[in-house]
Amino acid sequence: MLIDVHCHLTAPEFEGKVKEIIERSVEAGIRVIVTSGLGYEDGLKALEISDHRIVYPSIGMSPYILKGHEQVIDLIRRESKKIIAIGEVGLDYWYVKNDEERAEQKRIFREFIELSKELDLPLVIHSRSAGKYALEILFEMKAERVIMHAFDGAAKYAVRAVERGYMFSIPPSIARSQQKRKLVKRIPLENLLLESDSPVLSPIAGQINYPWNIVVSAEWIGRIKGISIEKVIEITGDNASEIFDLKL
Ligand SMILES: [Zn+2]
Repeated sequence: MLIDVHCHLTAPEFEGKVKEIIERSVEAGIRVIVTSGLGYEDGLKALEISDHRIVYPSIGMSPYILKGHEQVIDLIRRESKKIIAIGEVGLDYWYVKNDEERAEQKRIFREFIELSKELDLPLVIHSRSAGKYALEILFEMKAERVIMHAFDGAAKYAVRAVERGYMFSIPPSIARSQQKRKLVKRIPLENLLLESDSPVLSPIAGQINYPWNIVVSAEWIGRIKGISIEKVIEITGDNASEIFDLKL
């Protein structure tokens, strides 16, 4: 099954085109799209466009936005039966260089991890330029159901996360990223997922990305591991159903 475990259908780039994009995705063979709402307003929109048949919602916030997380936590609690994951949440040391703000990011991140345990929902983790630090916190807090999305850290850290059963979702930007290819080489297929992160992380820099480009991720994983694309789609689909507990 082709499952896009992480994208943003509510992004401004897709305004007025969501229905069409979902239709084209289904034509391309995609079975499930997990759309991630960022913040309270966008979280509401993600809930609104989800049909729980093809499109499922996840709610989180960009880690570099430090305001309004209480409201997002309330929304997740209130809608916990409707969402299938908390995320994206995490750390971003690329945008935020200041120590005080980084400490605040960590504090908020811990609250989301706590919440994921309380509600027994998987976490989708954003960890731009902070892979090692995000994993340290997740390990320390004994988070179990974890998807590291578009992980940009070193493969050696990823291997430690694999030992704990963490999953890694691979975006189509693998077509232009040596780091992502190294990552795929080191991570077993049983710990890999496909994500588009559309509208960003397209296979070609500067272009708008779409959910169906997860096929590009699948092709690259197959090429690197020397297995068929069908096998990649089958196993990553099983992995996604399992971590999200999808009853398909
Ligand atoms: Zn994202």
